[in-house]
Amino acid sequence: MNPLSAVAEVGAKTTEEKYREYLMTGFVKAVTPVVIDHAEGATVRDVNGRTYLDCFAGISVVNAGHCNPEVTAAAKAQIDKLVHCCSYMYHVPVVADMAEKMAEITPGRLKKTFFANSGAEAVEGALKLARLYTGKKEVISLEASFHGRTYATLSVTGNSSRKKRGGPYASGVAFAPAPYTYRSQWESDERCGEECAKAIENVFRFHTSGDVAAFLAEPVMGEGGIIVPPRNYFKAVKEVLDRHGILFIVDEVQSGFGRTGAMFAIEHYGVEPDIMATAKGIADGFPLGAFTSRDEIAAAFQPGDHLSTFGGNPVSCAAGLANIQFMQKHDLPGQAKRKGEYVIGKLRAMQSKLPLIGDVRGLGLMIGIELVEDAKKTPATAKAEAAKAACLKAGLLLGVGGVYGNVLRLQPPLVITQEQLDRALEILEKALREVSA
Ligand code: PLP
Repeated sequence: MNPLSAVAEVGAKTTEEKYREYLMTGFVKAVTPVVIDHAEGATVRDVNGRTYLDCFAGISVVNAGHCNPEVTAAAKAQIDKLVHCCSYMYHVPVVADMAEKMAEITPGRLKKTFFANSGAEAVEGALKLARLYTGKKEVISLEASFHGRTYATLSVTGNSSRKKRGGPYASGVAFAPAPYTYRSQWESDERCGEECAKAIENVFRFHTSGDVAAFLAEPVMGEGGIIVPPRNYFKAVKEVLDRHGILFIVDEVQSGFGRTGAMFAIEHYGVEPDIMATAKGIADGFPLGAFTSRDEIAAAFQPGDHLSTFGGNPVSCAAGLANIQFMQKHDLPGQAKRKGEYVIGKLRAMQSKLPLIGDVRGLGLMIGIELVEDAKKTPATAKAEAAKAACLKAGLLLGVGGVYGNVLRLQPPLVITQEQLDRALEILEKALREVSA
């Protein structure tokens, strides 16, 4: 070894040390002690050459796989032409093409898109548009929801663990019960859906001044613990909203782009939202967020009402367009549906043998495994963390979430292979047996 480079290395800080010294790593309890170097499909490799099977997809982002060659090629081609100009002039066709694609794939009459950079920015923009269109101010959101980490999106987030040390938050937000059958007082999904939808009428009547612009909900509640609302829920909710002239903003930031076995999760419920917020899976990891609405609602934005300097960045839009084309060409929603059914079947079989597994739920490849200590459903929070750590040790990345931090989250890239799924299930079962013992 060159002695000079050896001298330089003595004082050099490792990546972990630099992270601790120079980054605000307040985003997680403990940074996962792995230094990722590169990734492909459903695998990531660390700087020591160890490969991990990725069942979290960068928090449900790289639905078309890490470094999807079609997506990166489109982005690279765009980089050589134009990286940024400004959002107050028409530029490069790819931004308009991406907006046209959004009109094609979003449900019903949703047509006009505003491009932002993140999920939180998309939700904030959607709230602003709803307020301008209706001339009303208040919002009804759900308990156990998550909508982002900015002040406004935390104000509409129904989870104190995400909000702690940040209050007081914006007023004008009322929370309705989450349609969370497993922890509700109702035995059946159907009854839970019915009662939780009815509760929105009560929230409107008793917890707001009646000046409600929008109801905001995730069609599958990701951070809340992969809570899948009952099939009758959103239709019944929509009836309440229509009675009071309240818009329905669907937050598809985590559930969108094929993740749940449909392009958008709200399609499972046969309801047309008024505004849809998206991000995460929209561009396979390139920063892009969006909100999309009908012509007449979008017209509530007057010139100068809304702008985002980087929003609709041409490189991200090129990536987004290639990403959606890839999804359509390879039917990623259909793949997610089939693979998800397979995984849920296997997990239910595990549940019958392991009392630690209280509930298995999900749609497509958005799957939650709720761990409990006993028949009273005491959340097994520490065991969820221990299972995640055991999986990491065995080469599997997955997430932990839920309002009690006791839900393991499986949200792999939708391109994950059968062999990789089987391997992931094998590691997971072993980890769950270990922490059960
Ligand atoms: N909405 C939902 C449903 C989310 O899951 C998230 C992030 O996890 C957000 C909004 C915020 O997105 P971002 O982190 O891109 O701001």
